[in-house]
Amino acid sequence: MEIPFFKPQIDEETIESVAEVLRSGWLTMGPKCIEFEEAFAKYIGCKHAIFVNSCTAALHLCLAAIGLEPGDEVIVPTMTFVATAEVVQYFYATPVLIDCRKDTLCIDETLIEAAITSKTRAIMPMHYGGHPCEMDTILAIAKKHGLKVIEDAAHCLPAYYKGRMVGTIGDATCFSFYANKCITTGEGGMITTDNDEIAEKCRIMRLHGMSKDAYKRFGKGGTWKYDIVMRGYKYNATDMAAAIGLGQLKRVDEFWQGRKRVARKYQSLFENIKNVILSTELSSCQSSWHLFTIRLDQTIQSKRDEIIQSLASLGITTSVHYTPIHCFSNQKSNKKYSQAEKESLREISLPIYPGLSDTEIQYVAQAIEKATLG
Ligand SMILES: *Cc1c(COP(=O)(O)O)cnc(C)c1O
Repeated sequence: MEIPFFKPQIDEETIESVAEVLRSGWLTMGPKCIEFEEAFAKYIGCKHAIFVNSCTAALHLCLAAIGLEPGDEVIVPTMTFVATAEVVQYFYATPVLIDCRKDTLCIDETLIEAAITSKTRAIMPMHYGGHPCEMDTILAIAKKHGLKVIEDAAHCLPAYYKGRMVGTIGDATCFSFYANKCITTGEGGMITTDNDEIAEKCRIMRLHGMSKDAYKRFGKGGTWKYDIVMRGYKYNATDMAAAIGLGQLKRVDEFWQGRKRVARKYQSLFENIKNVILSTELSSCQSSWHLFTIRLDQTIQSKRDEIIQSLASLGITTSVHYTPIHCFSNQKSNKKYSQAEKESLREISLPIYPGLSDTEIQYVAQAIEKATLG
């Protein structure tokens, strides 16, 4: 059996809608992008949604919109994908790394306040695997110290924190539509916010800081004239990507049900497997289940890489989320983050996607049972 780590679900209707865009003569950011943004904002329940060509671009634009400057500091988890920290460094600002919680692997909110200095401007929580961070605590700290909260919600579509949908909680939230995320546009990202100023700045900066985008200039009744009102970037998306996104968004809840089914099945199968610790879903939260992670207990954790190898030899592709940011060679951190270091050495992320059959899930679980025994 061959079980990939992820399989995007693209239907014929979506393929046809991309073909329609290709035939229409308008390929770049235009009417489909507007339609996708409106549908996304409606789904999340937020005022603004701004479609860009990646989540990394979305995070970068949000930091630009809040006016991050060289020498500033931003609170970032060390247990995240490199993009969360990298975007801070684009400004010659410093990502101040924070260790993770043991249960959800999200940023440990109890360590945030002690890391705040006079240079801190923002907190960037990342909802690990689609499980929301402890947002009430994070929002209270941000309010007390006058900080912005920009959420890396690359894994969340959808996820709920105390009944509130991720995307409506902090000052701005960034989603990813990379090929293996909850919904995909190949490459793509979305900013959601209720803040008019952040939205306006992100919209203008995603296309060179132009006062009018190409659709307004070259569309009906447009003129060629434009002004550059702020320094911007080339972060706009295309109408082909928006067409894929619209097809995916229609099925976002079906995909979520599919991942939840896989998660429940894994949970029931792992109940009897000793030496394997499952991630918990806190009762205050609903995870998107973008990832299904297991951790090996102390009796077998030293064999993690061998176990990954033996799964690979059975055709099962897994992953590890993550090597903590501070462990990479380009980061000059001498600090220790003991929880993240410990977890990253014993974690394995298993295949999870809507089309994964019960037989395949059983195959994965049996392979792990065998590998952890031997
Ligand atoms: C995928 C991912 C990103 C980056 O998303 P892109 O759309 O590829 O830029 C950022 N943060 C996290 C946690 C991710 O998993």
